[in-house]
Amino acid sequence: METLLEVRDLDKSFRGGGGLPGSPQRRMQAVDRVSFTLFKGETLGLVGESGCGKSTAARLILRLLEADGGQVLFRGQDLLQLSPRQMRPLRRDMQMIFQDPYSSLNPRMKIGDIVGEPLRIHNLAKGSQLKDEVIRLLDRVGLTEEHFRRYPHEFSGGQRQRIGIARALAVRPSLIIADEPVSALDLSIQAQVVNLLQDLQQEFALTYLFIAHDLSVIEHISDRVAVMYLGRIVELAPAEALYRAPRHPYSEALLNAVPVPDPARPRNRPFVKGEVPSGFNPPPGCHFHPRCPYAQEICGQQRPPLEDKGNHQFAACFFSDQVGKFRTF
Ligand code: SF4
Repeated sequence: METLLEVRDLDKSFRGGGGLPGSPQRRMQAVDRVSFTLFKGETLGLVGESGCGKSTAARLILRLLEADGGQVLFRGQDLLQLSPRQMRPLRRDMQMIFQDPYSSLNPRMKIGDIVGEPLRIHNLAKGSQLKDEVIRLLDRVGLTEEHFRRYPHEFSGGQRQRIGIARALAVRPSLIIADEPVSALDLSIQAQVVNLLQDLQQEFALTYLFIAHDLSVIEHISDRVAVMYLGRIVELAPAEALYRAPRHPYSEALLNAVPVPDPARPRNRPFVKGEVPSGFNPPPGCHFHPRCPYAQEICGQQRPPLEDKGNHQFAACFFSDQVGKFRTF
């Protein structure tokens, strides 16, 4: 398999106020030595609770935020070493779809102008050729020529996300980072948008990094899944293996929490204790240990490495062989 993107030891921390005047500044490690590879044509799902660092990681990859350390190799070239001028042509090849399409669409611009803007910026089309291309893109995402002259507020949430997808596709990128693209949509609309993204993947030869906070959303679209907890990847595995038998207790907890549509099969709700700890003061060793039912003494002392537990299923857990005892799915 050909590698498109390789992220190595990506790091980012943020300074936070100490609260009271004169109290010391603190740092939050938002992304903590995150590494993964994205193969051409695949979909990697990146999942974790809100605040775990997945959206920050996406912004670091695209250099919408500057990393503290690490490497982001895109077609073998380290993006973190490039000047803004050197980045410009590569930006065309890497597009982002946002969670809230409404705030990412300029309310004063007509849809035709919004979708056509990247084509104009990159000098890819003008005049009637540009208009034809925009209409073709609108058609491809399930909208019509009639929508060309309308404004964003005239559309539903699902339609606005289709506009965001058309805009991302306009410059024919090879990588799309979709940051919770369906989280703000109704369940029935979520499935339509995910199906659309799946259809477009083949046709446009796209590679996706698909971010979600819920494992059920990415189940059918992901080839592999990376699970994040407090800035770290704790499991990275082929989707089929992870959904069948996760090797990290946190992945197991997320799967236990997936709602079941069958009322005759009630599920135990998450077995983990407590809330996600603050990133400003994460637990030592394995960050998950205060909440983990499998935890033993070593877990509070050492960081477990992300290791292959067999069949390309990587997990950062000292006791991954025991995982499964608390599963309810
Ligand atoms: Fe739980 Fe320990 Fe594994 Fe962390 S290393 S997930 S605390 S068993």
